[in-house]
Amino acid sequence: MSFAKKTVQHLDCAGRRVLVRVDFNVPVANGEVTDDTRIVAALPTVRYLLQKHARVILCSHLGRPKGGPDAKYSLKPVRERLSRLLRQDVAWADDCVGPAAEAAVMALGDGQVLLLENLRFHAEEEQNNAAFAQALARIGECYVNDAFGTAHRAHASTEGVTHYLKPAVAGLLMKNELDYMGAALESPKRPFVAVLGGSKISGKIDVITALLPKVDRLLIGGAMMFTFLKAQGIPVGRSLVEDDRLDVARDVMAQAAALGKELVLPSDCLASTAPDGSAAASAKPVEQLLAGEMGVDIGPESLALFASKLRDAKTVVWNGPMGIFEVPAFAAGTMGVAKAMSELKAHGAVTVVGGGDSVAAVQQSGLAERFSHLSTGGGASLEFLEGKVLPGVAALEDA
Ligand code: ADP
Ligand code: MG
Repeated sequence: MSFAKKTVQHLDCAGRRVLVRVDFNVPVANGEVTDDTRIVAALPTVRYLLQKHARVILCSHLGRPKGGPDAKYSLKPVRERLSRLLRQDVAWADDCVGPAAEAAVMALGDGQVLLLENLRFHAEEEQNNAAFAQALARIGECYVNDAFGTAHRAHASTEGVTHYLKPAVAGLLMKNELDYMGAALESPKRPFVAVLGGSKISGKIDVITALLPKVDRLLIGGAMMFTFLKAQGIPVGRSLVEDDRLDVARDVMAQAAALGKELVLPSDCLASTAPDGSAAASAKPVEQLLAGEMGVDIGPESLALFASKLRDAKTVVWNGPMGIFEVPAFAAGTMGVAKAMSELKAHGAVTVVGGGDSVAAVQQSGLAERFSHLSTGGGASLEFLEGKVLPGVAALEDA
């Protein structure tokens, strides 16, 4: 796959109407944006275009409205926050297509910005309906996709529109995602270490099989470690195990051996009878897990082992927490891996984190700054790590 896509930097945009698909799918409570991370992430592209005197028209989805207008999912609170962040007025249109949108667009001057109402107020958006994509295309004179988080979906605003509106190029956030994740997968500096965890092996098996041939080392924590341990005949108590994936775990171990890859599994874990943290937990060798206990985190010995396996890494990709990190008493393994990984960038390593919960964990650790890249796309970053072609990326012009 080629990641060399044209970007806004290739765009002749002064005085032109630029339709920008952003990911403003942010949490809203009582009419206020409660986490503006995604809005902030889109600012570089918006500011770049405004500085170039473009007429910037932003469109996004928010939540899951049922294909019609629903005040609960209005982007109006986003307009307020965006305006504050940009220190500039943000014009508004009550609909993303049709007369309301076209009138607002025509009133827009150079260096001004307009936000269109939620794309998903039209069921045609997710259906990738051609007429709807054409209506969107009429809004702009060129198209920018900066919504990496929805690039794995072929919707009208991410894929369909590019058939009718050209040039179609990547925004700066999209470029950043493709540069970091693409380089890590295509031409990693070695040793290349992947750290995988999270709840289910079934949801990650494609990531494991895609990464295994590329990495030098694979560290496995999270609940999925217990499927691997059980596959080796080790008793795992009440740990979250997918019995129908024991063969998969065995295959992965065999493939790692055949390819000469180092597969590192934890030697100890944190054992508890209550996954919600309401009972005491103790660290013990994985073989000693009792029938009534479940493993809720990797243990201190394993954390030290993982840290030592990370120390010489020049590329690290991390997906999936090491334990139930939402419970503070079970967060040590995840926070410890975040700490160990955070020390590598200063030594010239590239450190990338993908996956919604994993990125949240890194943010919780307070060390986010010390990572090369935290992916903004949960599902999209997983599909990217699986080596899949993202339709919203494929639709953009090659450089
Ligand atoms: P991401 O969103 O980064 O891709 P996942 O969604 O795959 O990560 O996994 C995150 C979830 O995995 C968290 O909710 C966490 O509580 C859970 N988890 C991690 N380790 C365990 C474990 N040992 N037992 C049960 N759940 C676990
Ligand atoms: Mg998740």
